[in-house]
Amino acid sequence: MDVAALRVNSDRLWSALEEMARIGATSAGGCNRQALTDLDRQGRDLFVRWAREAGCTIEIDEVGNIFAQRPGTDRDAPAVLAGSHLDTQATGGKYDGVYGVLAGLEVLRVLNENAVVTRAPVEVAVWTNEEGCRFAPAMLGSGVVSSTYTRDFAYAVEDKAGLRFRDELERIGYLGSRPAAPRPYAAMFEAHIEQGPILEKEGLTIGAVTGIQGAYWFDITFEGLSCHAGPTPMEMRRDPWSAAVPVMAGAFALARANGPWGRATIGDVRVEPGSRNTVPARVVVSIDIRHPDAATLETMVAGLHALVERECAAHGIFGQTAQVWHMPATAFDARLVERVVSAARRLGHSCMEIVSGAGHDSLHTAQFAPTTMIFVPCAGGLSHNEAEAATAADLAAGADVLLHAMLEEAA
Ligand SMILES: [Zn+2]
Repeated sequence: MDVAALRVNSDRLWSALEEMARIGATSAGGCNRQALTDLDRQGRDLFVRWAREAGCTIEIDEVGNIFAQRPGTDRDAPAVLAGSHLDTQATGGKYDGVYGVLAGLEVLRVLNENAVVTRAPVEVAVWTNEEGCRFAPAMLGSGVVSSTYTRDFAYAVEDKAGLRFRDELERIGYLGSRPAAPRPYAAMFEAHIEQGPILEKEGLTIGAVTGIQGAYWFDITFEGLSCHAGPTPMEMRRDPWSAAVPVMAGAFALARANGPWGRATIGDVRVEPGSRNTVPARVVVSIDIRHPDAATLETMVAGLHALVERECAAHGIFGQTAQVWHMPATAFDARLVERVVSAARRLGHSCMEIVSGAGHDSLHTAQFAPTTMIFVPCAGGLSHNEAEAATAADLAAGADVLLHAMLEEAA
């Protein structure tokens, strides 16, 4: 058996994606299969059936994460895992998450039909509630395993209708008994559509993901003095915008100065009292700051704080910065990133190292196991959208890279 000649079956992978996409299919061509709904149960059941047919043993943990294992010859060897999620946004696509799970399943099928024996077990994981749109926070199932959240915290999370995570998990039959705790793993790979435009723009097929951007969310409050828009001369105002505008422009400049990976986004602004002929008393600006390198991110944050202080002092405005959320920058395992790069090269696929702008379960698994991700292009970089699209050829290329990176680790 020439293992180097193994390739995934592109048609089989494509039809598995299409069959899964029928569960929760929307009229606009996307998917609505939110975590722990009846549709999520159907999607899980389909995966479990396929994995059993592929000869796997199935384990479900206490937060509903599914582990399908194909044994190796060495019972004690840590497993090599491919994993992602099957839940979607309410107006989600067919590939976000699902691709990583079904590419893993395709790897198992290729190994089976070629009777490939591996030393280490090969495993496929389905992480519970990655999207976070029904039950916040996102990436909850992997987050319990990584001890980012406790099991009981997850159990108590409620959706908008007041239904509890644990009750819904039990209702759909996926409240398992395997402890939601790390086991030793040799490697974890998550194949995923890029959800951004870079690979498509560069005309490349594979992204070897070196890490996930760190992020900070701030609310910056600028307080001045409310007054009439007509009678008050400009130089006699204490207009919160006089500080807020240069701070906003400065945040964008900070991101550009730390390019190409620096990001600044102002997604929400609140103006009080919010009247067109009144100088506002208060302006609250949300700023989302991101960078994949932890030290650079801290430098950007320090720059933002200095900016707020300087502009508020210069314009007699009271400024206050509140940190709303922080996601630490995650660096993936360098050895596994190199595995992905060299597998892509051997398979003849163009490849670049890339950083993930979005959070993924891999952010959590990297806390307890060597982890990396494999990105493939998606049309227009569009994701969390029913029009999300990827080509069969790119999806197969990513799955081939997954197959060979996993085989090397499990050999
Ligand atoms: Zn995803």
